[in-house]
Amino acid sequence: MPLTPYKIEAINAFKDNYIWVMIDLDNKTAAVVDPGDATPVLAFLKKHLLQLTTILITHHHHDHSGGVAELKRHYPDVSIYGKSRDNIATLTRLVCEHDEVAIGKLIFHVIEIPGHTLDHIAYYTPGILFCGDTLFSAGCGRVFEGTAAQMYTSLQKIAALPDDTAIYCGHEYTLNNLLFAQTVEPHNLDIKNKIGKVKTLRDNDLPTVPSLLSEEKTFNPFLRCDKIDVIYAAEKHSNKQLSDPISIFAAIREWKNNF
Ligand SMILES: [Zn+2]
Repeated sequence: MPLTPYKIEAINAFKDNYIWVMIDLDNKTAAVVDPGDATPVLAFLKKHLLQLTTILITHHHHDHSGGVAELKRHYPDVSIYGKSRDNIATLTRLVCEHDEVAIGKLIFHVIEIPGHTLDHIAYYTPGILFCGDTLFSAGCGRVFEGTAAQMYTSLQKIAALPDDTAIYCGHEYTLNNLLFAQTVEPHNLDIKNKIGKVKTLRDNDLPTVPSLLSEEKTFNPFLRCDKIDVIYAAEKHSNKQLSDPISIFAAIREWKNNF
């Protein structure tokens, strides 16, 4: 985390969504990421006496954008950023790769990461990545609109960020993802240790995210498509030789779809 007067908190929504809220403690303003539901966001803002200034949208799915119109009714001056107006007629600024979004003193860079959807973007500032449904802790999003090659490339773009980047993803899927990761790599001790930590957090109703990119690289199979154990498991499961990381990624993504 950068040394600034900002605090990031998770607002729970629906069954397992997280709406991230970044609070500027000096000005009592807030930015929210992917407000699928306005109700818990409005309650949070009211409770903490915060003014909503900014909404960041990572992709058009309703559970990430369904609360935007209602929030705009309460905060007519709010700036709303996203890549496409699908589902989000109220966007005030369309952004794409290399665009910058200023939130207080922080500058977020827009990174295009298609695959889960074609309009999917992430917002990055050193130490913080809001990545919606592309990278999850120990997993990744389903490939709905793009191709496996696009999704793999998007994950590699994220993997190229600094290791100390905290991954703020859109869902609490970590435990299920780790159980799949362990099926792929039964001898990986980082997966075993992480399962213990995650179970303790969930038993206490605490979020398991954000995680650090450095740790994701040790247990997330979708960031480990070049590792011999992952290659072996993917080939064994799909019962064929896989020649490149994209085919290995596609095989384990398909495997996870039916897990
Ligand atoms: Zn989604």
